[in-house]
Amino acid sequence: ISSVELTEHYLKRIEQFDGALNSYITVTPELALEQARVADARLAAGDAGPLTGIPLAHKDLFCTQGIRTSCGSKMLDNFIAPYESTVTARLLAAGTVTLGKTNMDEFAMGSSNESSYYGAVRNPWNTEHVPGGSSGGSAAAVAARLCAAATGTDTGGSIRQPAGYTALTGLKPTYGRISRWGMIAYASSLDQAGPMARTAEDCALLLQAMAGFDERDSTSVDEPVPDYSAELNQPLSGLRIGLPKEYFASGLDTATADAIAAAVKQFQALGAEIKDISLPNAELAIPAYYIIAPAEASSNLSRFDGVRFGYRCENPADLTDLYKRSRAEGFGDEVKRRIMVGAYALSAGYYDAYYLQAQKVRRLIKNDFMAAYEQVDVILCPTSPTPAFRIGEKIDDPVSLYLTDIYTITANLAGVPGIALPAGFAGDLPIGMQLLGPYFSEARLLNVAHQYQ
Ligand code: GLN
Repeated sequence: ISSVELTEHYLKRIEQFDGALNSYITVTPELALEQARVADARLAAGDAGPLTGIPLAHKDLFCTQGIRTSCGSKMLDNFIAPYESTVTARLLAAGTVTLGKTNMDEFAMGSSNESSYYGAVRNPWNTEHVPGGSSGGSAAAVAARLCAAATGTDTGGSIRQPAGYTALTGLKPTYGRISRWGMIAYASSLDQAGPMARTAEDCALLLQAMAGFDERDSTSVDEPVPDYSAELNQPLSGLRIGLPKEYFASGLDTATADAIAAAVKQFQALGAEIKDISLPNAELAIPAYYIIAPAEASSNLSRFDGVRFGYRCENPADLTDLYKRSRAEGFGDEVKRRIMVGAYALSAGYYDAYYLQAQKVRRLIKNDFMAAYEQVDVILCPTSPTPAFRIGEKIDDPVSLYLTDIYTITANLAGVPGIALPAGFAGDLPIGMQLLGPYFSEARLLNVAHQYQ
């Protein structure tokens, strides 16, 4: 099959099914077909890599030159980036085709994709339910086969949680493994891009293209990029898997607990050794995260002032009015809530009580992981306490939504990598689980996920 045929196939499916799912904000058919023709020429010339001609979708916070990058916000509804992000540039250089940009929670703040200016995304497995967030559009698009794979970003679970809600495999790499250049920042010390695909094998191919040092991101790490596909077939005999007791305590739904218990048996059958471990500070993760992430967000989002780019209010009376009304009209409720929380936590009288405390907790959580990895190679746990909830169910109660992030945010606070993979179903809704590993253990995580799959 040619890349043009494949691209036409996905474009047709988007036209047919995305009206009901709302997974794309922007679809770029002409551009995609043009890229597909170039890919076909490369294929014909024998100058092709494993991703040449593969149609992808990108979360709408990766700047894409000439294509609108909205970040799910009215603030950037009219923003056409003048440059290409490192992630999308590398994927384009690998010969991939860009089908379009996917829906997401506004500025990646959310766990249900309901905070998007462009409307909620529906879970293809059951359209009454959320697909997760904030990379909900990417998850729904891959799950409904409206693209071959997609990019996402994970600040507190936004790759792994939606992957879990839609039966995908999604990888959050080690902080610094992938360049954040050209990725609209939410919480810079936590943000990390990664692949969302149907299998670990596909994730390995995408990560190969995405990973690596970039001089334009000072937090990208100058470590060699291993061959992520080379170890996929290693047997799991002798692998030590840890089950953190805090992640299986109250609040975990029984279907999810059962699915993971079944997965544990399968891992044992594959030769792994199971150990009970403890991550004692896990319960502090939510309060720490919901100080640190909004604090960084309040700083990052100060650039949206109606002056240089993005939304500008009509007929401003003066400069203060321009700032005030552009931000009041351009940002949605959840974004405003985070900016207020963050600015408060960083303010002079409260800095020590909140931000500094949260940073100390962050270190404790990191230390918990380091101690655990002295006993085990990987950690196995759920991605979320329950399968995908109903659209609208948590919309009036932000804290109940924050609580669903309990199993994913620890990895971001510690900077360690994690891979989400399907663990089964509760009725028609997928159940996700995740494997967490030490820094730069992506190849190992992909190997373990691939052996399970
Ligand atoms: N749900 C978390 C939040 O709202 C994580 C989002 C993310 O990973 N981008 O902050």
